[in-house]
Amino acid sequence: MTASDLHLIPACAGCGRCCHLVVELADGIDHVPEALVVEHAGVRCMDQHGDGACVALDPATRLCTIYEERPRVCREFDRGSDLCRRILAKPPAFQV
Ligand code: SF4
Ligand code: SF4
Repeated sequence: MTASDLHLIPACAGCGRCCHLVVELADGIDHVPEALVVEHAGVRCMDQHGDGACVALDPATRLCTIYEERPRVCREFDRGSDLCRRILAKPPAFQV
């Protein structure tokens, strides 16, 4: 797939790949369960499994298990955005 083919990708394919990115948490804004948080070099982030999947991602349904309290960066991620489509255009680094 090339950049010129990106328009062929649906707005959201429900692939869950955006939930395999590092999600940094904003102090004072994001209030997720502490059991799902890990700290990298002083930055609080959503913890991830070995394949990069956010620990809040349900592996069977590919839905967010903390949807109502998901981090701001997740709320602001636009389905069908350039980043979304570029993620989709790359070969998956994990089984979807
Ligand atoms: S990467 Fe894009 S298509 Fe896949 S689940 Fe996220 S928003 Fe939807
Ligand atoms: S918090 Fe929810 S929406 Fe955000 S990356 Fe994790 S599973 Fe995906």
